[in-house]
Amino acid sequence: MRNLFIAAAALTTAFTTTALAQDLTVGVSWSNFQEERWKTDEAAMVAALEAGGAKYVSADAQSSSSKQLSDVEALMAQGVDALIVLAQDTEAVIPAVQMAADEGIPVIAYDRLIEDPRAFYLTFDNVEVGRMQARAVLEAAPNGNYVMIKGSPTDPNADFLRGGQQEVLQAAIDAGDITIVGEAYTDGWLPANAQRNMEQILTANDNKVDAVVASNDGTAGGAVAALTAQGMEGIPVSGQDGDHAALNRVAKGTQTVSVWKDARDLGKAAGEIAVALAGGTAMADIEGAAEWTSPAGTTMTAKFLEPVPVTQDNLTAVTDAGWISVEALCQGV
Ligand code: BGC
Repeated sequence: MRNLFIAAAALTTAFTTTALAQDLTVGVSWSNFQEERWKTDEAAMVAALEAGGAKYVSADAQSSSSKQLSDVEALMAQGVDALIVLAQDTEAVIPAVQMAADEGIPVIAYDRLIEDPRAFYLTFDNVEVGRMQARAVLEAAPNGNYVMIKGSPTDPNADFLRGGQQEVLQAAIDAGDITIVGEAYTDGWLPANAQRNMEQILTANDNKVDAVVASNDGTAGGAVAALTAQGMEGIPVSGQDGDHAALNRVAKGTQTVSVWKDARDLGKAAGEIAVALAGGTAMADIEGAAEWTSPAGTTMTAKFLEPVPVTQDNLTAVTDAGWISVEALCQGV
């Protein structure tokens, strides 16, 4: 009798969970779709949400931090059970988290930090991405003048990356082997801004530049365009994201490294975590979650995925994983 009761209870629980999952809606607030990767993140998220029986609704803030706030409001008005937010501006987005918290809606800070312990922080290890970028460039250019092309000043990832890069370069700087001769944030992560900054730094240094630590593939593209205009393409340049154009540059030798973050894994994890949190799972009980304290001292529950540096030596990592076809990779090589 008791067993029967337990079986019946288990059945009811299973039924309730399924019914609940099917009623769930997850809202995703995108900052923009400027970089190639975000469509990949999105596809993986949608697939994971569908697999979890949840509906996907989304909004694109088109690089406007104020639109992002009204987007979140609109998503909440649609009755979302969880929010995934790719923040345009780490500070401007805080009221959105507040609104969600007031309604008891869980929030995932997706890829970019939102400094609020009520959000679950899901990202790649961005400091490690920065280290990987600098390591590959330093190996290719152990001496000389370095330029640091940073990310958007409103994205905490810009400084995480820059911190990791500095860790790796510090000893060579101290030894006098390398000198940082120019450094600039890239507003909005826009390749055109990176190109303009790179042009100005080249001019200011009479083109005496030996290596460029660029923080993503978009800005690397801008830097390479500026270098190419001066006949300097081929000096070491870093990036990240595994953009197809960047991997093609790696194959051609005009970019040294693209730190590959498999956006399919991050998107899938976000979808699964959103369903779990919406279903009442505590943040600390998410698989692989750990406490993490931000440089400003906020302790959050976070999960970090591992990035992989891709250079000419391991291009098969991305072709074997079905990230890019051999044809696309080798175009024009
Ligand atoms: C992401 C990068 C991306 C950049 C621009 C960063 O926060 O981590 O992958 O290239 O934003 O969108």
